[in-house]
Amino acid sequence: SSAVTSTTKIVLNLESLGSLPADEAGPLARYASTIQAQRHDYNGKVLSIRAEDLKSLAIIYDMSPDELTSRLIEWGVLSPGMESVVGFGGD
Ligand code: C2E
Ligand code: C2E
Ligand code: C2E
Repeated sequence: SSAVTSTTKIVLNLESLGSLPADEAGPLARYASTIQAQRHDYNGKVLSIRAEDLKSLAIIYDMSPDELTSRLIEWGVLSPGMESVVGFGGD
C-alpha cells in the first residue's frame, strides 16, 4: 500500500474554501469545520491539516490524492507548489 509523505504542511485557505460552490466544496468544508471544532480553532484564515487527512479526503472525493491536490490548487484552497512537495509514493 502507498504511504503519504510530505515535507511541507498542508495548509488550507479557508477564505477560498468558503467562497466555493457548496456542491463541490461541501465535503471538504464539512471536514475542515469538524477539525476546527475538535481543536476549538475558529476565526483562522488558514487551517493546517494532517497529511493523512488529505488521503481520507481523496477517498471521499473518489480521486487519487494527486488528483485531489490538483483540484484543491485549481480551487485556490491549496497554494501552487504543493504538488511538488506532497508525494504519495509507494515505498
Ligand atoms: P488527538 O489526535 O488525540 O490529539 C491530541 C492532541 O495532541 C491535540 O489536541 C494536539 O494538541 C496534539 N496533536 C496531535 N497531533 C498533532 C500534530 O500533528 N500537530 C500538532 N501541532 N499537535 C498535534 P487538539 O488539537 O485539541 O485536538 C483534539 C483532537 O481533535 C485530536 O486528538 C484529534 O482526534 C482531533 N483532531 C484535531 N485536529 C485534527 C486533524 O487535523 N486531523 C484529524 N484527523 N483529527 C484532528
Ligand atoms: P506556521 O505553522 O507556518 O503558521 C503560520 C501562521 O499561519 C500562524 O501564525 C497562523 O496565523 C496561521 N496558521 C497555520 N495553521 C493554522 C491553523 O491550523 N489554524 C489557525 N487558526 N491558524 C493557522 P502563528 O499562530 O503566529 O504561529 C506561528 C508559528 O508558530 C507557526 O508557523 C508554527 O510554527 C508555530 N505554532 C503556532 N501554534 C502552533 C501549534 O499549535 N502547534 C505547533 N506545532 N506549532 C505552532
Ligand atoms: P506540526 O504540528 O508542525 O506537526 C508536523 C508533523 O509532526 C505532523 O504532520 C506529524 O507527523 C508530527 N506530529 C506532531 N505532533 C504530533 C503528535 O502529537 N502525534 C503524532 N503522532 N505526530 C505528531 P501531520 O500529521 O501531517 O500534521 C501537519 C500539521 O497539521 C501539524 O503540523 C499541525 O499544524 C496540524 N495538526 C495535525 N494534527 C493536529 C491536531 O490534532 N491538533 C492541532 N492543533 N493541529 C494539528
